[in-house]
Amino acid sequence: MISVEEARQRVLERIEPLPAERVDLLASLGRVLAEDVVSDIDVAPFDNSAMDGYAVRAADVADASEERPVRLAVVEHIPAGGFPSVSIGPGEAARIMTGAPIPDGADAIVMVERTREEDDGRTALILAPAQAGDHIRRRGEDVRAGEVVLERGKVIGPAAIGLMAAVGCARPLVHRCPRVAIVATGDELVEVEEFPGPGKIRNSNSYSLAAQVLSAGGVPHVLGVARDDVASTTALLSRASEFDLMVTTGGVSMGDYDVVRDVLERLGEMDFWKVAMRPGAPQTHGTIDGTPFFGLPGNPTSTMVGFELFVRPVIRRMLGYRALDRPRHAVTLAHDVRKKPDRRYFLRARVERGPEGGYVARLSGPQSSAVLTSMHRANALLVLPEGASSFPEGSVVDCIRLDMEEGTP
Ligand code: AMP
Ligand code: MG
Repeated sequence: MISVEEARQRVLERIEPLPAERVDLLASLGRVLAEDVVSDIDVAPFDNSAMDGYAVRAADVADASEERPVRLAVVEHIPAGGFPSVSIGPGEAARIMTGAPIPDGADAIVMVERTREEDDGRTALILAPAQAGDHIRRRGEDVRAGEVVLERGKVIGPAAIGLMAAVGCARPLVHRCPRVAIVATGDELVEVEEFPGPGKIRNSNSYSLAAQVLSAGGVPHVLGVARDDVASTTALLSRASEFDLMVTTGGVSMGDYDVVRDVLERLGEMDFWKVAMRPGAPQTHGTIDGTPFFGLPGNPTSTMVGFELFVRPVIRRMLGYRALDRPRHAVTLAHDVRKKPDRRYFLRARVERGPEGGYVARLSGPQSSAVLTSMHRANALLVLPEGASSFPEGSVVDCIRLDMEEGTP
C-alpha cells in the first residue's frame, strides 16, 4: 500500500496538457489558453466621449456658471458610431453621445446635466466650467495595438471572453478537453430504467462518474458495463487507446470475480493498486496502450472519493490548469469523531462558518462506502491522518472543499 501523496504524485507524473485546438470564442469559457492573445488594435480605438453632452473648447467655458452661462453655437450632432465632419472653432460646440469620437478642436466634454439648450438646440448654454481632458477616454487607454492582453496558461473567464472579443480573437487556441472512457463492472448491475430483480442493483456509478468528469471539464464516454469475466472486461478495456483517459469502477478488490487488475496487467501495465486510505483502498492505476487507466473501487462513495483525489487533478492537468487541488482549510469538529488508526480517512461532512468566525464541521451522515446520501449532503471531506484514532469535539482538522473550485481562496 502506498500513501495518498505518493499515489497522487505517481498519477500526475506522466500527465501533460493535451494538444491545443481552436474553438469558438464563447466555447472557450473555462478553458486554458495555449497561446498569448495579442491585440490587433488600440482599445479604445479612438479618443471618445465618456458622457452624453457637448464637446467644447475648455478655454471657451473656463468661467461658465449657472449665473453666467456661456453660449456656444452647436455645429453638429455626433452619435455613437458616427464620425465628426467639422472641427470645433472658438464659440462652438458639438452635441455628442457616449462612445462617439471627439471632434477636432474640442478638448473637453461637458455633461448634458450641466447644460441647457436654446433655439431648438442650435445653442448650448454651458453652466459649469470644464478643464481640458474632462470626460474624454483616450485612444489605447485600456489596450495598445500589439500588446499581449492574455497570456498562455490563463484560465478564460467572462472578462477574458470580452477582452478577446474587443481585440478580434474570434477563435482562441485552448488545450483540448480530455475524452474520458467510463466502464462499470459487475454481474449485479442493471440499467437505471430497470427495476432491479433479486440480487441486482442499478448502475449508479457510471452516472456519478460521468457527472464528475463533466464537472471537472472532461468529456465522458460511457462505454457500458463489463460482466465479471475476463473476456467481457478485456473487450471494453482494450478500447482505452481511443480515449485520453479510462476509468473503471468495481472489480478491483480481492473478490473471486474481481478481474480488472488481471486484465489491466494483461493489456497494459499496472503502476499501483492499493492506497492507504478509506473509503476505497483499492485505487488501481496504470496504463493501457499509453492511456492512463484508473480502476476505482465499486462502492459508490469510494469511487467518487477516488475520482476526486486522483482523476480530477489528472483531467485538470490535461486541460492545462496549473491549480490542481480543491481549496483546503482548517475546521473545528462540532462533535467527537473516531476512526481506526490504520489509514487516512476522508469523511463526508458539512462545513459551515462558525459563530465566532472560522469553520465548523459535522459529519453529513453514515460513512459506509456504500452510502451515497451522505456524499450528496457533504460539501467537504474531512482529512483525518493515519496514526491517530480519536478526534474529540473541538479538534481542528483539515478539510477538502468539494463545493469550491481549484484556485479559489
Ligand atoms: P466491487 O468493488 O466490484 O466488489 O463492488 C463493491 C460494491 O460496489 C458492491 O456492492 C457492488 O455491487 C457495488 N457497485 C459496483 N459497481 C457499481 C456501480 N456501477 N453502481 C453501483 N454500485 C456498484
Ligand atoms: Mg464487482
